[in-house]
Amino acid sequence: MDKKKQNQQIKAYKPNYFFIILFSLTLGYLIFSIFQTSNENSISYTDFKENIKNHNISGITITGNEITGDFNNPFKKQINGNTLEIKNFKTIKPSFDDPELLPMLEESNVKIDVKSTQRSWFQMLLINLLPWILIIGFFIFISRRMQENMGGQGSIFNFAQSKAKLYQKSSSKTTFKDVAGLDNAKKEFFEIIDFLKNPKKYIALGAELPRGILLIGPPGNGKTLLARATAGEAEVPFYSISGSEFIEMLVGVGASRVRDMFKKAKKDSPSIIFIDEIDSIGRIRGTGLGGGHDEREQTLNQILSEMDGFEPHESVIVIAATNRPDVLDPALIRPGRFDRQITLDLPHKEARKRILGLHSQKIKLSDSVDFDSLAARTIGFTGADLKNLVNEAVLLAARDNKKEVDINDFEKARDKIILGIERDDLMNEEEKELVAYHESGHTLVAKLLPGVDPIKKVTIIPRGRALGVTEQIPEEDKHNLSCTYLYKRIAVILGGRAAEKVIFKEVTTGASNDLKQATSLARKMVCQFGMSKNIGPVAFNKGETHPFLGKELTEQKDFSENTAKIIDEEVKDIISSMEEKAVNLLEENKEKLIRLSKKLLKEETLENEDIDKLLALDQEKIKKDEKIICNV
Ligand code: ATP
Repeated sequence: MDKKKQNQQIKAYKPNYFFIILFSLTLGYLIFSIFQTSNENSISYTDFKENIKNHNISGITITGNEITGDFNNPFKKQINGNTLEIKNFKTIKPSFDDPELLPMLEESNVKIDVKSTQRSWFQMLLINLLPWILIIGFFIFISRRMQENMGGQGSIFNFAQSKAKLYQKSSSKTTFKDVAGLDNAKKEFFEIIDFLKNPKKYIALGAELPRGILLIGPPGNGKTLLARATAGEAEVPFYSISGSEFIEMLVGVGASRVRDMFKKAKKDSPSIIFIDEIDSIGRIRGTGLGGGHDEREQTLNQILSEMDGFEPHESVIVIAATNRPDVLDPALIRPGRFDRQITLDLPHKEARKRILGLHSQKIKLSDSVDFDSLAARTIGFTGADLKNLVNEAVLLAARDNKKEVDINDFEKARDKIILGIERDDLMNEEEKELVAYHESGHTLVAKLLPGVDPIKKVTIIPRGRALGVTEQIPEEDKHNLSCTYLYKRIAVILGGRAAEKVIFKEVTTGASNDLKQATSLARKMVCQFGMSKNIGPVAFNKGETHPFLGKELTEQKDFSENTAKIIDEEVKDIISSMEEKAVNLLEENKEKLIRLSKKLLKEETLENEDIDKLLALDQEKIKKDEKIICNV
């Protein structure tokens, strides 16, 4: 497939000008014909003869059986009860012979002009050929559309060709300026960019640059963006494809698509191939993982052999992206293939600030918007999340017909993303009171335990799937969490249920999600973090999670039944002791709990400052009284 065709693929649909012109011509002809047959100025044969007799006509033209001419004085014609004055006329001669007409015309001195009825050659050609042109054109149009649908590239036999999108040097305008943060990853790419710009310099020295670069990171963290920016900086063609696009129902199609894509990239060398979601084809072979698909394995084998087959003069760099490096086939990451691996971490505060600024460049912002404080309150957001945050804020401002986007729009957008959309669920008073005590329980325990993440706000307006929310935000990006911090975290999570116990002497189903969170965290403390005295500093497979998505991976447990029993006891111990701690704290501060719940019930949402004012806690005393000790 040549470049022309590839560009056609990028622009999904190109209008067919031939058919547009043909259609317009036909329409024009039809409209013209309609005007031709307009009968506004047609008169009856009797009126025609009457006007001759009255000497109101001085000349006529006879074309076949049609007579046309001009009146000396306008003739008043009746149409649907209205009177219309017409200056020229048209009438049809009767099929029988009218012996009166000629003498009458001669007597009135009317000039007679007779014209032939034959059409011009052009008219004849048009009338005879037009239907055929339309029919043949219609069939060509339909068959082209069918081919596009089946092959996507102009022929039904093209399914084996690569579906990679090509961004030419000139069309790839993304550069490192469009990527905020990720400074370490950018540094790694400078050498590659120089190689792609001056391959001869490196080849002359006999240097062997990495063929493949693996970008590892959570979804939406800028892997695709970084790869495109690298192509933009190096000013080379960029072939982009997703791993899943190789796979079709037919075995062998994926491999031939790989062959085709590498052939094109080599022809265009220096160039970059970008394979997104490589894990969809690059999983460990022969394990049955991911379906044990023959087609997938053949495709992977083809990629491996293509990467081996690069000649020194072929400056093609393959960049692949994944968020599952743990499932990749070892052959894919051995030296000579994707041996350079770059991990893209979640953006830190400064990077978040820059990403927010980058995506707000074209937006009218009010002076109230402070990206520094917004960045501090968006810990854990990926680049895509931050882009989404800006977009949501703009949508909210537009909904309120504002001229500028202000900080309130950003706050609302952030709440929408973190806490979910506000719901208008009607809760009865009893339920509302219960939710208010539950959320106040979380909040008060957090306030009474120094070192936990500070409270941002608490609300009993249902959001997302929850009936109420207590929001805590860490003060800064944390990479290491202490045992004491995790213990306190569990106590805060169980604070809601503890409040129910203290006030109502009862527990409800409202705490089920809290229990799930607390159990999962406690299990990790025991099985992965070595935070249990009875289990010791050991890491077990059970409970291992996905490196970025936080999902549990199904792995064989590698401990005995006896250890399993101890693990369960330890988990239960941590949770029970922290629930007891929360209950005790709330019993001791029952009056504060009631005060906070009543205020929350009235206001529905309380910010941190309101809570501090209401509780007026003595922070010094709280620190002095702190008793949680991590016993490991
Ligand atoms: P996936 O793994 O889901 O394919 P990805 O890591 O490839 O995700 P991208 O598609 O590169 O993520 O990022 C999504 C969007 O987020 C980008 O189009 C970009 O607008 C924005 N984005 C992500 N990271 C950054 C960044 N560092 N600077 C600026 N914008 C960013």
